[in-house]
Amino acid sequence: SKVPPIILNNGIEMPQLGYGVWQVPDDEAERAVATALEAGYRSIDTAAIYGNEVGTGKAIAAAGLPREDVFVTTKLWNSDQGYDSTLRAFDASLEKLGLDYVDLYLIHWPLPARGTYVDTYKALERLYADKRVRAIGVSNFLPEHLRRLIEATSVIPAVNQIELHPHLQQHTAREFHAEQGIATEAWSPLGQGKGLLDVPAIVAIAQKHGRTPAQVVLRWHVQLGNIVIPKSVTPSRIKENIDVFGFSLDEEDLGAISALNEDRRIGPDPATFDLG
Ligand code: NAD
Repeated sequence: SKVPPIILNNGIEMPQLGYGVWQVPDDEAERAVATALEAGYRSIDTAAIYGNEVGTGKAIAAAGLPREDVFVTTKLWNSDQGYDSTLRAFDASLEKLGLDYVDLYLIHWPLPARGTYVDTYKALERLYADKRVRAIGVSNFLPEHLRRLIEATSVIPAVNQIELHPHLQQHTAREFHAEQGIATEAWSPLGQGKGLLDVPAIVAIAQKHGRTPAQVVLRWHVQLGNIVIPKSVTPSRIKENIDVFGFSLDEEDLGAISALNEDRRIGPDPATFDLG
């Protein structure tokens, strides 16, 4: 069953489920992304800091798909924040990917203490106006950062990519995004596979549906309307993770997963994280 699209706030379509390549070394990324494209993924999430834009780009080229059939996201790293440096970093990413446009370009972290995300975003607006990106957005922005950005710039971010999984359900952020027309994209949607997939409530739901815990968690995201980008380098798991459109969780299942929220992050707090 095919991955349905989410319509972003500028009308473009993004597959609701994609493949994330964080922590995949460049020389493995080509094989991993090729496996994902063969399995039917049509959205790939990379970033300059992942160091695998070259391998990712090679796999996309080798797949021989029409360019418009693959949705490519990359992200601007922290050390490149600022107007001119963002334009240069974008050129470098495009070159590494071997593409002449990307579908979605994100500011990786807000770095609020530096005060550079507004200027950085203005460079993204310029890239968008020049049609070098089909949509622009942010990652790890808290509602307070989004509010400031929206006040100071003219293009509402299409996406905010944030840590989100059953232990960190992000109710406040999701509600704010919905009010503003910003799509919520979940990073570490499986909680990095640690612990979450062994939680008895999730295991029980998986048994009930004859599915795996990972499929149950991904299906939960899909039914909530989140965009998800699970990562695996294991071919069988890559296939398993996209096979979540042939079953549905019922209200009881959804309620049981809702009850698992602990507002607990695995990754850094965007209010204070500043690296690179
Ligand atoms: P994830 O939640 O996707 O978990 C991945 C891990 O879960 C795998 O390494 C594996 O150990 C396990 N796993 C995957 N599929 C499984 C399955 N079917 N059964 C059992 N275990 C399974 O975590 P992630 O890699 O951190 O996040 C996904 C993507 O999100 C990344 O690759 C990256 O693209 C993006 N991301 C973005 C940011 C950001 O700051 N914007 C931060 C982290 C991750």
